Amino acid sequence: MLKVKNLHVSYGDLKALWGVSFEVNKGEIVGYLGPNGAGKSTTFKTIVGLLKPDEGEIYLGNERIDGKPAYEIVNMGVAYVPEGRRLFPYMTVMENLIMGSYPKRAREKKDEMLEWVFQLFPRLKERKNQMARTLSGGEQQMLAIGRALMSNPSILILDEPSLGLAPKLVEDLFEIVKKINEDGVTVLISEQHVHMVFEIMDRGYIIEEGRIVLEGEPEELAGNEHVKKAYLGI
Ligand code: ATP
Repeated sequence: MLKVKNLHVSYGDLKALWGVSFEVNKGEIVGYLGPNGAGKSTTFKTIVGLLKPDEGEIYLGNERIDGKPAYEIVNMGVAYVPEGRRLFPYMTVMENLIMGSYPKRAREKKDEMLEWVFQLFPRLKERKNQMARTLSGGEQQMLAIGRALMSNPSILILDEPSLGLAPKLVEDLFEIVKKINEDGVTVLISEQHVHMVFEIMDRGYIIEEGRIVLEGEPEELAGNEHVKKAYLGI
């Protein structure tokens, strides 16, 4: 459903991506893994139209999306949760969620989506009238994901969703990501907790210094000596 072909992206003179290619099939959870500065966020920002590639193509289904404005890409069913959340701190939980249903494809389904989000995250329902800034870190991350889901996405892109969360919350978060996927949303996720992504992903890619260096199913990757040493601490 999402296909990235030979993507090259630069920040001025600094080249961050050197011919990245990968794909995400409908219904999959795909891990996009690599050290800090490898180019994960750059890849995601380019997919969602926040950065323009120097070269390469991005397809959603049969439609080419690189070069389209970000709002159009959201309208086509791509939801993105950037690293570090980015909520509207002085708006309530409910107002933040409603902002997520702004895209055309989501407006008519607002009530349905809201019910789904509250079912996934009962805590958000309990706190719906509270200001976003007063939530705990974990609750804020739930809200960021909930707001993305309000856009009625077919694919959800999560950039390091567990950053700054306590271990127990990280486990809960992965459970929820799995549930979201079972509800029919394809997932592309970057993560530092590599062993935990391995438990839920169908396939994964390893990116280092702006290049994909390995790909495979979790069992396959986990058997690789480099992955064991660099990512699994074995
Ligand atoms: P992290 O988990 O630390 O965000 P990442 O894999 O997402 O890592 P990117 O943020 O995509 O990596 O960064 C890739 C490269 O691009 C790095 O060398 C980084 O320093 C550089 N870079 C990222 N954002 C910018 C920017 N706004 N301006 C200039 N260089 C940038």
